[in-house]
Amino acid sequence: MMMSLKSRILSLLGRSALPQPCEEARANSSDYIDGEIDSALEHRIRAHLSDCPLCEAFFRTLRETIAALRGMPTQTAPAGFADRVRNNIGSQ
Ligand SMILES: [Zn+2]
Repeated sequence: MMMSLKSRILSLLGRSALPQPCEEARANSSDYIDGEIDSALEHRIRAHLSDCPLCEAFFRTLRETIAALRGMPTQTAPAGFADRVRNNIGSQ
């Protein structure tokens, strides 16, 4: 189902709730990408993505962002860091 031009413009402007299939796809986007979703919902989302360029772009960007974050090195905080943060918060 293609979005109407009017609802596309409104959703780009953030002035309208997204159409229901877009809402459902985006609300479940991280579970879908992680493969932690039931198959009926997965099918609906996959069908929607092949119909809706805005959601397709949303999912593609989300996937790329997740992949980029996973590729970042992790760092360990120095010993005592968490205690010092807690102490500083407590002394405000
Ligand atoms: Zn959509």
